[in-house]
Amino acid sequence: MSWKKHSWAGWGRVQSATGELARPERSAALAPLATEAPAIGNCRSYGDAALVSEGRAITMTRLDKILLFDEADGVIHVEAGATIADLARILAPKGFLPAVMPGTGFATIGGCIAMDVHGKNHHGAGSFGQHVTEITLASGKVLTPDDPLFKATVGGLGQTGPIASAKLKLLRAKVDVMMVTERRAETLESFLDRLDESEATYTVGWIDATATGEALGRGILEEGETGAGLVPPAKRGRKVPFNAPGWALAAPVVRLFNKLYYGRVPAAGRTLVKPIDDFFFPLDRIHDWNKLYGKKGFHQFQCVVPVTARGTLRSMLEAIATSGLASPLAVLKRMGPGRAGHLSFPMEGYTLAVDFRNRTGTRGLISELIAEAKAAGGRIYFAKDSVARAEDIPGMYPELAEWAEAVNAGDPEHHYETDLTKRLSLRSAK
Ligand SMILES: Cc1cc2nc3c(=O)[nH]c(=O)nc-3n(C[C@H](O)[C@H](O)[C@H](O)COP(=O)(O)OP(=O)(O)OC[C@H]3O[C@@H](n4cnc5c(N)ncnc54)[C@H](O)[C@@H]3O)c2cc1C
Repeated sequence: MSWKKHSWAGWGRVQSATGELARPERSAALAPLATEAPAIGNCRSYGDAALVSEGRAITMTRLDKILLFDEADGVIHVEAGATIADLARILAPKGFLPAVMPGTGFATIGGCIAMDVHGKNHHGAGSFGQHVTEITLASGKVLTPDDPLFKATVGGLGQTGPIASAKLKLLRAKVDVMMVTERRAETLESFLDRLDESEATYTVGWIDATATGEALGRGILEEGETGAGLVPPAKRGRKVPFNAPGWALAAPVVRLFNKLYYGRVPAAGRTLVKPIDDFFFPLDRIHDWNKLYGKKGFHQFQCVVPVTARGTLRSMLEAIATSGLASPLAVLKRMGPGRAGHLSFPMEGYTLAVDFRNRTGTRGLISELIAEAKAAGGRIYFAKDSVARAEDIPGMYPELAEWAEAVNAGDPEHHYETDLTKRLSLRSAK
């Protein structure tokens, strides 16, 4: 297997790396590489989680076979390079879905485990790793949930070595379409109340991150249930052919867009039937949508804060709305307590995610937001971060030292470090 020189970037296109990549086609070719370098998936992490500057990484995307599907038990054994969207497409007609799906179908199973991703059903179903029954590392080691290394691997940022395959417990659901109810929330308080009260299986909120004054924190709550029957025609994917010019996301344009977007849902709410992909992976329909932010790319800030920290969310939204830096992509969601690894992001509370074009002032604003999240007893998400400093992390992730000890014991020469783990000195935690 040969290593080839490449330059690649995180999804936000602010951070990039030049190094060597190997792209094994068969699992037999993976094993000999497995002690040399970390694995990466489809690089859907926004910052530097999947980057290895001046180093090596193994791209797993060609190792995407389904090894076994046990329909009676609802368990699938799949290679780590398979994507969530592929699994959903194959499984839905058979009456199953991956139990947890992040907001992009391009995420690989390896990437979902290594970030212990969450979906729109986190409040009820917990995190991805809670539905993983077995992990096979490329070294041949097989981990089950009671193995201490399992907790270091799930949410473990690839630092226990490449994951070759995993067994996933699936959700049984007859699903051709999603039934989606959209309701406006006029203020932040009413939005949070509705999130708390919602009994829907899937919930997600779009928030107008440019609204100020009485409208601060207004948005649209989407509640979804799986449905069977009518299948609306699939819409064709679109591509962004070039980097968008700077004015495309200038503050007045975003404010106007948000106003119209908010207004498109009638005051009394509405219920729609949507194709599965449109509900779970709404942004995937526009390929390369990350180019809409122009050549300089963008940052995403995502935090989770405890339910008692409503005041922190208000203060964050005030800072965001008055900065003029927010984009229309902003999400507010309720999380449950479910998490499966030492470094899993989820905790009971509210998660806020906002995209910001990379401009003067953006990093400073995100640094302030990180400090606020930490002071409130919350944490930031490694899959999205590109701004935090090493000193920001320990209080946010109380099991960091335990995790570092476990991964350093298995990889004393630090072959699996990535730009993210180095930037945040994660493996030096004591
Ligand atoms: C539009 C969009 C929406 C998103 N929505 C959500 C969401 O709703 N919820 C959520 O939780 N996340 C969300 N994400 C983040 C995304 O799910 C994660 O970043 C995920 O890890 C991406 O998977 P990937 O295969 O691209 O992994 P990469 O980004 O390539 O890698 C991520 C990490 O996984 C490790 N890794 C990858 N494959 C392996 C392997 N086989 N073995 C060991 N380690 C491995 C890498 O070393 C790295 O540390 C979203 C991202 C986008 C772009």
